[in-house]
Amino acid sequence: MALIRNSKLRPRILIVGGGSVGLLAAQHLLKNLGRGEATVTVVDPNPYMTYQPFLPEVAGGNIEPRHAVVPLRRNLKGAEVITGAVTRIDHAAKFVVVEPEGDEPFELDYDQIVLAAGSVARTLPIPGVAEEAIGLKRIEEAVALRDHVLNRIGEASLMENDEQRRRALTFVFVGGGFAGIEALAELEDLARSAVGQYETLTEADLRFVLVEAMGRVMPEVGEAQARWVVDHLRERGIDVYLETFLQDCTDKHCKLSNGEEFDADTIVWSAGVKANPVLVDSDLPIDERGRVTVRADLRVEGEEGVVDGAWAAGDNAAVPDLSGGGVGGFCVPNAQHAVRQAPVLAANLLAALRGETEFQQYFHKTIGSVAGLGPYKGVSQMGNFEARGLLAWLMHRGYHGYAIPTVDRKARVFGNWALNLVFGRDSMPLKDLDVPRKAFVEAAHSKPAPKKEPAKA
Ligand SMILES: Cc1cc2nc3c(=O)[nH]c(=O)nc-3n(C[C@H](O)[C@H](O)[C@H](O)COP(=O)(O)OP(=O)(O)OC[C@H]3O[C@@H](n4cnc5c(N)ncnc54)[C@H](O)[C@@H]3O)c2cc1C
Repeated sequence: MALIRNSKLRPRILIVGGGSVGLLAAQHLLKNLGRGEATVTVVDPNPYMTYQPFLPEVAGGNIEPRHAVVPLRRNLKGAEVITGAVTRIDHAAKFVVVEPEGDEPFELDYDQIVLAAGSVARTLPIPGVAEEAIGLKRIEEAVALRDHVLNRIGEASLMENDEQRRRALTFVFVGGGFAGIEALAELEDLARSAVGQYETLTEADLRFVLVEAMGRVMPEVGEAQARWVVDHLRERGIDVYLETFLQDCTDKHCKLSNGEEFDADTIVWSAGVKANPVLVDSDLPIDERGRVTVRADLRVEGEEGVVDGAWAAGDNAAVPDLSGGGVGGFCVPNAQHAVRQAPVLAANLLAALRGETEFQQYFHKTIGSVAGLGPYKGVSQMGNFEARGLLAWLMHRGYHGYAIPTVDRKARVFGNWALNLVFGRDSMPLKDLDVPRKAFVEAAHSKPAPKKEPAKA
């Protein structure tokens, strides 16, 4: 396996993951590093950072997919950006293995490593989930969900078999956290507006189901807000099952712990996240939830003390919550923390590079939560201030429109929303994105036109 050494004879800062933490930490480093002081290398399987809080709006057709991702190369001028997945981390020998898609893996050495690989869906060993369900962590999933829901509606409009049609129009969401509720609400809104375009369908043909194991939804907001959300969803005709588990969904036949059984062509899994599993095979200290253990200054720390040259933040790290508000004493995995941890991490890393021994402690008291539930509907909680409906929706859009990185993306998102206000959302599904050569192959195999004898004079 080839080893790519840092040829520039200056320390390499290797950032694993170009998401919320990775992009912002790299930008901060590039801005503050002296000339020739260090090389910043960012490795990510995608050439873009995904602004995940917008995935539900992308799925709901309110934001164009490309507007919800931030290109890494364009926004990290001066950094080395490598499109590939880190598959192994050997911190003792200070190298990682990088696997570019469809190419040979190679080793990459480093002096300082920043672990910013985020999280992945936390699934349970429920029969059928791995085979039939889809998550909502990536832009591709949001696009596929939007097209899938719209295509199922289109196909159902021509179905004469009641059972088949019911299955096509049943959409199940597992997990009533922020992400799951937002995705459910956005897609239900999209589906309701889409059925209006078909004479053979009515809104009553749609069935949306939420399955939540706890007795409430959205742990991020207070009890009263959470109860309001459940009432609101039920008023929209959504079946909300609390204290209920999905037990099986083999062949898309769902069995719930309350005894209900039904077929559903769409099963969305959004029941929490776990730290990126790439850390499990590394020699870095991780906790029982697979997160790298760090101090409040974001230096990695194991049982034997601080691990030299290793830093971590965001969803893949167990960052102590000094405000006292976190779950189990740690910051909850959200963008609010990730974007604030990134500059602290970068500043401390720079200080360490320069031989300083004083580091900033990460401290952030959560400012609250805002969630969109489809156009003009939302819920939010900022300390004791609670908002519902239009005001909360405006707060959600205002906050996230401002929070998505880069002026370019902010302008595109706000522009998109403004156009939607005039023309309505674009509820046109694209077909065959997973088989783009289909039409060409069919054309290549189609019968030639019969040869005709030239007409006699
Ligand atoms: C649907 C949804 C809605 C959300 N809504 C909100 C919200 O409203 N408010 C809020 O505060 N938070 C929200 N979050 C959570 C928030 O997006 C995350 O907490 C935040 O993105 C974490 O930042 P991160 O940098 O740790 O991880 P990420 O932003 O996920 O970045 C991790 C990066 O690592 C890359 N990566 C993965 N594997 C590898 C590998 N092997 N090698 C190299 N790179 C790798 C990934 O491609 C990704 O770019 C939401 C999340 C989701 C999924």
